[in-house]
Amino acid sequence: MAVTVYIPAPFRRLTNNRSYVEGHGQTVAELLDDLKARYPALGDMLQGEGGDLPSHISIYVNNQEIHSLQGEATPLKDGDEVAVIPVIAGGQDLTSEQMLRYSRQIMIPDVGVAGQRKLLDARVLVVGAGGLGSPAAVYLAAAGVGTLGIVDSDELDLSNLQRQILHHTPDVGRPKVESAQETIARYNPDVRVIPYRERLDAANALEIVGQYDVVVGAVDNFDTRYLLNDASYLAGKPYVDGGVFLFEGQVTVFIPGQGCYRCLFPAPPPAEVVPKPSQVGLLGTLPGVIGVIEAFEALKLILGLGESLAGRLLIFDALAMEFRQVRTRRDPQCPLCGDAPTIRELGEYKALSSSPLAGRDEG
Ligand SMILES: [Zn+2]
Repeated sequence: MAVTVYIPAPFRRLTNNRSYVEGHGQTVAELLDDLKARYPALGDMLQGEGGDLPSHISIYVNNQEIHSLQGEATPLKDGDEVAVIPVIAGGQDLTSEQMLRYSRQIMIPDVGVAGQRKLLDARVLVVGAGGLGSPAAVYLAAAGVGTLGIVDSDELDLSNLQRQILHHTPDVGRPKVESAQETIARYNPDVRVIPYRERLDAANALEIVGQYDVVVGAVDNFDTRYLLNDASYLAGKPYVDGGVFLFEGQVTVFIPGQGCYRCLFPAPPPAEVVPKPSQVGLLGTLPGVIGVIEAFEALKLILGLGESLAGRLLIFDALAMEFRQVRTRRDPQCPLCGDAPTIRELGEYKALSSSPLAGRDEG
């Protein structure tokens, strides 16, 4: 029987830096013998006192720990996937199940177990459980972001399902935060969801935003977007902003002190030029792309990876299938984050509406 064996990062130097090796055997015991014969150094690691598998190493067959199967007598068939997962010493307190669940990202050198720990300890607020918030929350949850706050006051409408993948057909009529919480629990029970079935407003925004490390904006109206921008700045939190309209999407990141949404668009456009989000057509794949990019930026901020979109507005033209970007900067005249700010607390956000980009919609 030929099976694929996943080798975790700490053992990879024992397999010529390969993360997968082929192995043979009718049972797990035979497979271990085969690996010991071909990779003696790995074999030493897999052999404790008396020749048994050491207790700090777990073996999984097709994602099931062998003690829940038939132990080392577990039979193997062609194409099975076997994983060798060590408990990592040094206060790295991931369970063996977590080591396996997140193995594909733990094996990224800049992530590793320490990065996974950061994700599990991180708190991300997703404002809006709609077209943008759905893919963002799903991917953040799957990656193991330990605490997800989800803000949405709406109930699910049948017309939402075309893009809002946090929810399912039987959820129509239910509060979106409830179905979101259930969906996320099925994706990843490691994640604690804190639902807020309310609208963000000047009275609650700072208090809620203040409890999170990163804010992901996934909203369909300009008053909430400006409110979120102001609250994130005043609370000193990075704010990932995304929006979609027709076939175009935009994403950027605002780091307090390096510019904000008001630096980009000081004031919203008059309400009469803004179409209502529910009257603008949209393919669900557009908020899908933008929401996933928002999640990616949030993960990068938590992990300290790469270059964030801070200082850049990424524009996605889905019809041309092109990404372009424009530079953004902090405006010294900005009423919020400029040199002489006039906005020092959250005020009224009514009557705000769309931007020159016409009704950026969460979808
Ligand atoms: Zn600003």
